[in-house]
Amino acid sequence: MAKSGVSAAPVKPAFKKAKFPATHTALVRQARKINRALAEVYPYAHPELDFENAFQLLVATVLSAQTTDLRVNQTTPALFAKYPTPAALADANPEELEELIRPTGFFRNKAKSLLGLSKALRDDFGGEVPGTLAELVTLPGVGRKTANVVLGNVFGVPGITVDTHFGRLARRFGWSQSEDPVVVEQDVMALIPKSEWTMLSHRVVFHGRRICHAQKPACGACPIAGLCPSYGAGETDPVKAEKLLKYEKGGKPGQRLKPPADFPGEAAARQTGPQDMATDAGEA
Ligand code: SF4
Repeated sequence: MAKSGVSAAPVKPAFKKAKFPATHTALVRQARKINRALAEVYPYAHPELDFENAFQLLVATVLSAQTTDLRVNQTTPALFAKYPTPAALADANPEELEELIRPTGFFRNKAKSLLGLSKALRDDFGGEVPGTLAELVTLPGVGRKTANVVLGNVFGVPGITVDTHFGRLARRFGWSQSEDPVVVEQDVMALIPKSEWTMLSHRVVFHGRRICHAQKPACGACPIAGLCPSYGAGETDPVKAEKLLKYEKGGKPGQRLKPPADFPGEAAARQTGPQDMATDAGEA
């Protein structure tokens, strides 16, 4: 006889668990299916950093290392009000700059990068953000990931942005086995048409932040579970999984203070509250 309080048997999924594709052709097909499915789940996927121009996106992306986009979005309005151009930021007092960006963490190193990249923009690029990968990665604090964010979202140059979420999901989908972001980028480039690279990056990162978390993926509430060879890596009970959903999928605000018009969730709050601190402590 079942004792009271004993949980019911796990709910079986309404699909046969997908296998890791065995051939490159099968992997290409699976990757494109997942991309199309994610496009339906997140038709409004977008960069989650608030920005109005290339310089702001570059600065915000440098600040986003090891913190949430929300934290950056709550920090940059005061920063850009005080230093609106590369020339203004290049002349910033380092201590004042550190104080302004302190909430984003690693503020001494980030301040050094911002001062260095602003000076380079002012002195070597006529105060403009350059539009090529080769030039962008010469700027202090700017690696391939940051460069691809700027290229894809300001200059319309397709790029795959491999952050912690993208790398994790690429491995869960079987798109790459590597922990090296550059190798993951190359592996995925071989699977998805170039024209899709920037939007694929947004969709995958959206999914990683909302549903396919690092520690507790919400498999039981995942709309692409039937395509995913890693189904079962996390909670499969639909009711329990539903509770793990974040941002608009969990009925909560997003990360942007100024989200795009088609974003179905609410804008984030200007001030950081206790709930945001919890998010920071978890996944960026
Ligand atoms: S949440 Fe689970 S089923 Fe969905 S993509 Fe992640 S690992 Fe796969």
